[in-house]
Amino acid sequence: MARAKKVDRAPQEIVSYNPATGEALGSVGVYSTEDVREAVQRARDAQRAWAAFSFRARKERLLRLRQVIIDHTDDLCERISKENGKTLQEALMSEVLPTVDLLTYFAKRAEKILSPQKISLHLFKQRGSYIHFVPRGVIGIISPWNFPFAIPMGESIMAFLSGNAVVLKPSEVTPLIAVHAKELFEKAGMPKDLFQVITGEGATGQALIDSGIDMMFFTGSVPTGKRVAEACGARLIPCVTELGGKAPAVVCPDADLERTASALTWGGFANSGQVCASVERVYAPESIHDELLEMVVEKTKALRQGNPNSFNTDVGAICLSRQIDVARDLIDDAVEQGAKIRTGGSRKEGDGMFFQPTVLEGVTQDMRIVHEEIFGPVLPFVKVKDVNEALRHANDSHLGLTAYVFTKDRSRGREIAEQIESGTVMVNDVMATYGMPETPWQGVKDSGVGFVHTDDGLRNMCQSRHVHYDRIISLKKEPWWYPYSESRFSMLKKFMKLLFRRP
Ligand code: NAD
Repeated sequence: MARAKKVDRAPQEIVSYNPATGEALGSVGVYSTEDVREAVQRARDAQRAWAAFSFRARKERLLRLRQVIIDHTDDLCERISKENGKTLQEALMSEVLPTVDLLTYFAKRAEKILSPQKISLHLFKQRGSYIHFVPRGVIGIISPWNFPFAIPMGESIMAFLSGNAVVLKPSEVTPLIAVHAKELFEKAGMPKDLFQVITGEGATGQALIDSGIDMMFFTGSVPTGKRVAEACGARLIPCVTELGGKAPAVVCPDADLERTASALTWGGFANSGQVCASVERVYAPESIHDELLEMVVEKTKALRQGNPNSFNTDVGAICLSRQIDVARDLIDDAVEQGAKIRTGGSRKEGDGMFFQPTVLEGVTQDMRIVHEEIFGPVLPFVKVKDVNEALRHANDSHLGLTAYVFTKDRSRGREIAEQIESGTVMVNDVMATYGMPETPWQGVKDSGVGFVHTDDGLRNMCQSRHVHYDRIISLKKEPWWYPYSESRFSMLKKFMKLLFRRP
């Protein structure tokens, strides 16, 4: 049984269960406020030595971690699948592979990305300026259960490459993966205390914010994200919040319906719909609505739901029972108001937590299911007159993480994409950009503040410090220094007029 530190002062335990079978997988201790403080201190001590490592040395260590992850792929996928309920292929393609790719991308480029950046001064040519990047220190990460490996490990790897230590508070629903990630980290010979995993619930997360960390990366729900941002704000801790989504799919009449139907089916049901970027509402114009709907219904009926630890399962288990209640409630509300269940609609019988992939027809923009995050395998179809109406509805949301446009006209696709209020809009594709480390993962509106990934994301893990210096021998004093006088004022004014005489 995998166990985190057993704490005398806070003797509670969190038991982690396999959502597909109900079997207990192991338990972890709950870190108290004092334990969290000690963990942050250990991380801080380790970070000082780590920051002194050359980029090359950091890169070599991280590439060793990459090899350990690759060597343990099968075991890792099985562990993720067992604790989270996603299928083996999803564990590979959405957790392990993107982490390995992100590590490779940033390990190769960190030194260049974090090299000092010259600023060309347009006026003060006699002076020079540059930004240099200094690790922030200890990065706090609070993560959710739906991507228990890729989210915290991606952020941690970027933090390590930029010279920081990490204290991770994983979700209490999937703590064992984080504890195992720490074991892999140590197997790779990374400095032991540089990565701390503190298990517990919300109070442990709060204690992390209170413990003197230098930056926070929070991924989770909107209400918790607001609380975390507020707590960080009170302590002036920079905080990135990656929160909920309600991705609309705007389908144009000229879309390739075969690709669109497959994309919607995968985008709605991968990870049992428990993805912040899942397709949660489909806006289809009258001219193609019925044909597209029938294609999606057929594809959905063909999905094989069951044991996630099998290579031949398409849809696995629901990780958190609460999500079944949310889906049930929103479906009931929609059906009461006239929507029709075309397939699915119920919890599957048996010990495990499974909810059938569900397609709803006849959903309208005034229904709750169009506005509240479902975070489950439900695909509501809304029939619209045209793309303009689809666009209006797509933007009628308090969330704005991802959105999708389907059309064969590529330039029209980008034109529509630019009109959608969303951190990322993909044309003729769904969800995949999280796995592209050079692109930003970010929300607008209530979906969060800040971003992860990208070269700027790596820089953001550092303090950016500005150095301003003299390039040539300076005057004894600048003309705007003391003493002030009327003649000096008039000379400076003349100078200004001369400089800005042309429009
Ligand atoms: P959650 O908000 O319930 O919990 C997230 C984390 O916050 C957990 O580790 C939890 O223990 C911790 N926490 C709870 N209360 C806290 C407090 N007061 N202070 C500090 N930490 C606290 O979210 P969840 O159910 O784990 O995750 C699902 C949500 O996450 C969905 O809304 C989903 O859309 C969102 N999500 C967003 C992204 C993204 O990249 N934008 C990615 C994955 C999930």
